[in-house]
Parts: sequence; structure tokens; C-alpha cells
Amino acid sequence: MPNIKEYSVEELHALFAGLGQKPYRAKQVIRWLYGRGVRSFDEMTDLSEELRSKLSESFSLNSPELADVRTSSDGTTKYLWRYNDGNTVESVLLKYRYGTSVCVSTQAGCRMGCKFCASPEVGFARNLTASEILDQVLFAQLQSGTPIGRIDLMGIGEPLDNFDNVTRFIALVRDPLFSPGGRAKGSAPGLNIGMRHITVSTCGLVPQIDRFADLAIPCNLSVSLHAPDDETRSVLMPVNNRYSISELMDCCERYYSKLNRRITFQYALIAGVNDSPEQARLLAGLMRKVSGHVNLIHLNDTGNGFRAGDDRTFGATLLEHGATVTTRRSLGADIDAACGMLRRRTIEKGQREVATE
Ligand code: SAH
Repeated sequence: MPNIKEYSVEELHALFAGLGQKPYRAKQVIRWLYGRGVRSFDEMTDLSEELRSKLSESFSLNSPELADVRTSSDGTTKYLWRYNDGNTVESVLLKYRYGTSVCVSTQAGCRMGCKFCASPEVGFARNLTASEILDQVLFAQLQSGTPIGRIDLMGIGEPLDNFDNVTRFIALVRDPLFSPGGRAKGSAPGLNIGMRHITVSTCGLVPQIDRFADLAIPCNLSVSLHAPDDETRSVLMPVNNRYSISELMDCCERYYSKLNRRITFQYALIAGVNDSPEQARLLAGLMRKVSGHVNLIHLNDTGNGFRAGDDRTFGATLLEHGATVTTRRSLGADIDAACGMLRRRTIEKGQREVATE
């Protein structure tokens, strides 16, 4: 049976019409699902019993369970969700001065194999569906009681390796019914997140970035670069053997000229690997070509033998060569907040992953 949360408002209207129901019933159901996070049709008390049983005969209503939660001294909260097939993923809620953001996972595991990341070691189980990604946002909001203003698709998984579900997730979030205007009286707020507050992060799958550009979604794109030369990048990120840096940069140029939106390039400094002055100079050169912006991130120690580099010296060299640079504040270090770390720990403790794909 299809999960009812996979449908957009429009599609639900059509489905409800098929069931002989009035259109506003679809809105009522969506409010229960997204405004209140109900876990069964029986909780939808303003629907007739007849309709509730009709719905439960036609649709499933799966929601993840909270398997673990940790809150850091800086307010960062990490959730480990378990879906009904036993697979677990993480989301991280981050509190900034300007609001709260949630970093969501897009796959249970990852196929990209980046050497500095915690995810590859425990393997790939399956893609997440659009509603499973959306549930991470919704339940983080309900759990924390804090309205979420930004979504980063930067948790476990490669968003563009799960293209259809991720773009469907974005379409669901984009639906006007998620705005406060669609809020049911007395219920928790729905989601109200503009496209400019959504960031999709990719390790650089060139054909998928082009496909994504064709959709012209006005969200932010972030590319995890981590090295400005093929020799270094191919060691750190196997995806570079498929698409070289120059192919990736050409693709980023196409994206920029199509959408007129600057791409942010993530760069985790690794001592003695990608932090030389020469590499800073090369990186600044690449940024000029694509009008890109560098975000220096602190490498989280995942036990892979890499040590964090010094961002001040590297950042200064980048600035000298004309690049624009920000340094990401490291939050939640005391709770394994880097995505993939909690899932890995849980799996190492012996919880079985169930692959369904
Ligand atoms: N697959 C996507 C999104 C998930 S990873 C991507 O590659 O962008 C989210 C970000 O965390 C990426 O920039 C990734 O390179 C980075 N990352 C992975 N492991 C890390 C670590 N140990 N320390 C710091 N950043 C890391």
C-alpha cells in the first residue's frame, strides 16, 4: 500500500475525488499529517469513521520512531530515526542566531565512499522516499518544539544519487499548504520554508547536477570539493575518478549561468593532504572560473587517520587570491554530531541493517 505522505496536496485532491470525497477532506488530512504528525488514521478525529477506515484500507501511514536523541551543550540536537523496516538514519537540528536549521539524511548509507567520511564503512542499505526525508524535518520540529526555518540535505547519503525522491521531497516542501496559511487551528505550525532556505549538497555527480539545473529549482547548491587538484581529490573522493575537477567545474559554470545562483564549495581541511598554500591558490583560481564561494569546514575525526588542518592560514591565502570564504562553526562536537557517526555507532553495537533494495 502506498504511504499517504508521498502525495502532494494536488494529488490527494485527485485521490479523494476518486474516493467520492470533497476536496477539503484532503486538506484536513494534510493538516493532521504535517501540522500534528499523527501516526494513524484513527487520530484524525474530524473525519468520519467510515472515511478513516477507507483511508487505512487504501494507504499506509508510516512514521519513523525516535531511536536515540542527544543534545549538545551548545543546543545542537541529534536524532536517530528508525524506519519501519529497521533502517536508521540521522538528522541534526542546529540552532543559529538567525533561526533553526535541520540537516537531513537522504539515503540509509551511501555509495560514494569518501575516505574521510563515517558513512561508507557501514554500507548502503537503500534510498529514502520523499516522505521519509520530510518526516525527519517534521518530527524534529515536533520533538524540539522549535519552528524550522532551513533545511540542509547534508546528512547521510548523496542527495543526487536519490534524484527522484529528493526532488519530490523538495516539491512537497514547496507546496503552499505547508505555509502558516495552511495551518490548522490550534495545531503545531506546518512547515514554512522557502526554497532559498534549502541547500542540496552533492559530492559532484555531473550528469545529475545538469539534470537538477534543468529543473531550475531556486534552492542553494553546495558542492563538496575538498581538493583543487585531481590527484588529491581522487584519493579522497572516488567520485573524482568518474568526473574530473575540470568536468565538474564546467558543469558548475553551466549551473551558474542557467540559474544565476552562486554555488558554495565545501572544503574540509586535512593536514598535509589538501591544505598547502599551492592548493589554496589553485582553489581560488577554480572559484574565479565558476563565481563560487568557499566554505571551510572543520574535519571531524572519524577514525580514518586524517587530522584537521589549520583554516586560518589556508583561509588567508584564499582571501589573498581573491576568493570569498566563510568558515563553518563546528557545533555539537560532544554528541558525535557529524552525520553518519551515530548511525555507525548504533550499527557497530549490533543493530542489524535491513537492505530492501
Ligand atoms: N553526499 C553529499 C552530502 C552528505 S555529506 C556531499 O558529499 O555533499 C555532507 C558534508 O559533510 C559534505 O561536504 C561532506 O564532504 C562532509 N563530510 C563528510 N565527512 C566529513 C568529516 N569527517 N568531517 C567534515 N566534513 C565531512
